[in-house]
Amino acid sequence: MSILSAAGVEFELTLPVVIIGAGAAGLVAALALREAGQEVLVLERDPVPRGSTALSAGLIPAPATRWQQAAGEADSPALFAADILAKAGGEPDPALVEALAARIGPVLEWLADRHGLDFSVITDFRYPGHSACRMHGLPSRSGEELVDRLREAAEAAGVEILCEAQVTALYADAGGRIHGLAYRRPDGSEERLGCDALILACNGYGGNPALVAEHVPQLSGALYFGHAGNQGDALLWGQALGAATRHLSGHQGHGSVAHPIGILISWATMTQGGIQVNLEGSRFADESHGYSEAAALVLRQPEGIAWSLFDERIAGIARQFEDFRQAEAAGVVLTAPDIAALAAATKLPEAALAATLAEVERLKREGATDGFGRDFAGVAPLVPPYRAVRVTGALFHTQGGLVVDASARVLRPDGAALPNLYAAGGAACGVSGSRAEGYLSGNGLLTAVALGHAAGEAAGRA
Ligand SMILES: Cc1cc2nc3c(=O)[nH]c(=O)nc-3n(C[C@H](O)[C@H](O)[C@H](O)COP(=O)(O)OP(=O)(O)OC[C@H]3O[C@@H](n4cnc5c(N)ncnc54)[C@H](O)[C@@H]3O)c2cc1C
Repeated sequence: MSILSAAGVEFELTLPVVIIGAGAAGLVAALALREAGQEVLVLERDPVPRGSTALSAGLIPAPATRWQQAAGEADSPALFAADILAKAGGEPDPALVEALAARIGPVLEWLADRHGLDFSVITDFRYPGHSACRMHGLPSRSGEELVDRLREAAEAAGVEILCEAQVTALYADAGGRIHGLAYRRPDGSEERLGCDALILACNGYGGNPALVAEHVPQLSGALYFGHAGNQGDALLWGQALGAATRHLSGHQGHGSVAHPIGILISWATMTQGGIQVNLEGSRFADESHGYSEAAALVLRQPEGIAWSLFDERIAGIARQFEDFRQAEAAGVVLTAPDIAALAAATKLPEAALAATLAEVERLKREGATDGFGRDFAGVAPLVPPYRAVRVTGALFHTQGGLVVDASARVLRPDGAALPNLYAAGGAACGVSGSRAEGYLSGNGLLTAVALGHAAGEAAGRA
């Protein structure tokens, strides 16, 4: 991934705007550009646009939407912004947080009205750190449906998507203006293309072990559950162009990936009253906190393994997610009529397991708080039959990246914008700060969809 000098380079074809990456960020940016009547080309390295977007649950947080209003859910951009900043310990840029929190609701309604994306809001539980039920998803609650529907909408709107086109180099002048790029085709040939503006929508560096070891060492060597094509190209190009970077240690982890099969088990299994135990049958954390910080905690347990324990009521809530249905179909969500059978099925020590479950149920009955700080007041008891999944911790995606303003313009360390470069989604520094616990559920697609839209709008105007 290199930056080459544009001096003396002639491009046969120059387009007004080129977007690198056809995940949620790139496709929403493309739709915003078409809305402004702009010609746009999206270059995607894969044969079919998928990205981490397809691997996600496709849930996008948005305040004050019509779906929330219909459900009687009180919310506002200010409340959402406050939740994001609280979870991230005040680290993110408040102006960016405010702008994204204000933009995302109208963008979801535009995607629904203009492009037919059939969103609804999850109202049967709140994600940790959210003061309202504000996670919106398509009917299957899967990211695959999200990226497919965005791609179909983009194609219908006249966006050109060139797949199997991996961008390998950018051509820039001494002032940091991008003049064009080079991309590689499957037969190894390289082609060149000029552009007046460039949007980086090629996500972060979770798929690049060297960059993970450098910036997120606590998850170095852990299972990477995001898209393998996210190699940190945006970060490397931005750094070479003199862009500011921030919060490179920030990331979304997840402490509940069924192992070894590799299927995401919704964290609702924990927040709705479930617990995690290690191979000794002991709890090790407050499971009501976010799933992101849980990744490193699970990995610190013997063999990097935990069992997520819940019951049929909770399984009923989790079943709205395609991933959970797949896990059940694959037989990895075990069922046990009592503690002895649960211990036998999981091979956990029965006495320790029984003591752990007895203590949790006592805390629930008494509405007490445990030594980890989990408040069990009002939490429903686990009722047999028990359900159990063997899980591990994983890295989902990185949250640090190129510093951008609310128009997704890439900034230099002095705050000045690079002339014609934009970044959205995982390519940009997100709003999660520098720590795993700073990730509020949905921050990933928030910055993909809202910043993608901002980038498209701004590049279209420019
Ligand atoms: C298992 C899982 C579950 C998740 N669940 C959620 C959730 O429910 N809600 C949420 O908000 N977030 C979730 N996330 C995070 C979310 O998926 C990402 O934050 C979001 O999809 C990022 O979108 P993006 O468009 O920036 O990147 P991507 O969707 O990864 O798209 C980037 C695209 O760029 C392409 N690309 C990369 N380099 C090049 C190159 N050099 N040339 C051409 N193309 C290139 C890639 O092939 C890829 O298609 C989840 C992540 C994972 C892994």
